[in-house]
Amino acid sequence: MNKLTFSIGGIHPSDSKISRGCKIETLPLPPKVYVSMFQHLGAQAKPVVAVGDKVKAGQIIAEPGGFISAYVHSPVSGTVKSIAPRKDLAGFAVMHIEIDVEGDEWAEGVDLSPELVTNIPEDRDFILDRIKMCGVVGLGGATFPTHVKLNPPPGKTAECLILNGAECEPFLTSDFRILLERTDEIVVGAAIMQKVLGGCRCVIGIEENKPEAIEAVSASVARLGFPGMSVATLKKRYPQGGEKQLIDAVMHRQVKSGGLPIDVGAVVQNVATSLAVYEAVQKNKPLVTNTMTFTGNVVPPERQHNYLFRIGTPLSFIAEQAGGIPENAVKLVSGGPMMGKAIANLEATTVKGSSSILCLGDETRRHPETACIRCGRCADACPMGLEPFFLKKLYGVGDTDALERNAVQDCIECGCCQYSCPAYVPLLDNIRMAKAQVMGIIRARNAKK
Ligand code: SF4
Ligand code: SF4
Repeated sequence: MNKLTFSIGGIHPSDSKISRGCKIETLPLPPKVYVSMFQHLGAQAKPVVAVGDKVKAGQIIAEPGGFISAYVHSPVSGTVKSIAPRKDLAGFAVMHIEIDVEGDEWAEGVDLSPELVTNIPEDRDFILDRIKMCGVVGLGGATFPTHVKLNPPPGKTAECLILNGAECEPFLTSDFRILLERTDEIVVGAAIMQKVLGGCRCVIGIEENKPEAIEAVSASVARLGFPGMSVATLKKRYPQGGEKQLIDAVMHRQVKSGGLPIDVGAVVQNVATSLAVYEAVQKNKPLVTNTMTFTGNVVPPERQHNYLFRIGTPLSFIAEQAGGIPENAVKLVSGGPMMGKAIANLEATTVKGSSSILCLGDETRRHPETACIRCGRCADACPMGLEPFFLKKLYGVGDTDALERNAVQDCIECGCCQYSCPAYVPLLDNIRMAKAQVMGIIRARNAKK
């Protein structure tokens, strides 16, 4: 079988998919939810409810704060208790709507029946409006509003929709489980997106370490018979699920520095986003649930889980349901070990894009940094063709012009460089800060134009 992959860099960490056999379990409702107004890329959402209001699950509680923004819905039925800043998982204060949970009564018009609906609406504007009104955002990490991404600007045409089922980050298994357990809905979601994009072809990319998912999705694609849709087996290689890496693997095209996937005719969506699109368009169900993995190498096998959660659920509640955080956990991460964010605050709550609570042990402790031995491994590993050590050096001397010339803004923060470094140089930490500086300069320059 021809296995596709990207052309430069990459690494092969152990995949550690310990929870792959854990079926999706529905978490019970917590006593309270705290729904963040900042669950997507772009402007914060603006609350449209007031303290004391009664709300139902699936009801709009906040509207988009700009063109790049998204609607937010109540994940439960209950009473709005407060609208106030609260710390997110990194410890930053973000506006949240606190709701006392009083039940699970859903807003009128939301179809919660399990029947598969395969007839796709004809009207493109209707589909895009449903996706927008249901608050669907990209669930592969970026949380970019989906209705915007599915509506390319004039002059740009989508030739290929790539559905990302790589799940290349170690430990994470929620995408794998939905590929097995929600297969047909994901395939219908992909067909809906093909239609919105003008009938382009669709390639569903899945890494070779998930043969059951490849088999299930291939069978569904054949059975449902949507035209122009196929499944591709991807090599197990990190970061295979990176947007630019997937486009390289599937279409053999390179997105230029500063460019977008649509510039080369590609639109990339995650499989969980496809499921959310299905639920929005075919069931009128807003994005208030997602699937996450509770895992880590310090979590005993019987306490590994894949959970269906409501947005706004406190992480501490989820940990409690899973039997608690193991005592030997050294670090907690939301997302994968390579690109995830450290959890500094377990009282933070889930957002649309939450994908895991990862409990890591001693192996995550930092080694003392030693001198660079100029081995070049960091450059060999970089999937964006950058020179990580040189970028770190430029950041050290504050040369932002040279950092921009050397494309620090193209860094996808995958961590391959730091993972490969035998001297334990904190490359990513430095490059991330350098990138933030340069992006700020680019944004300010563009705003003046
Ligand atoms: S973190 Fe950035 S510089 Fe390092 S390997 Fe990834 S893309 Fe390259
Ligand atoms: S991998 Fe580490 S030791 Fe090797 S060149 Fe890069 S920074 Fe230096």
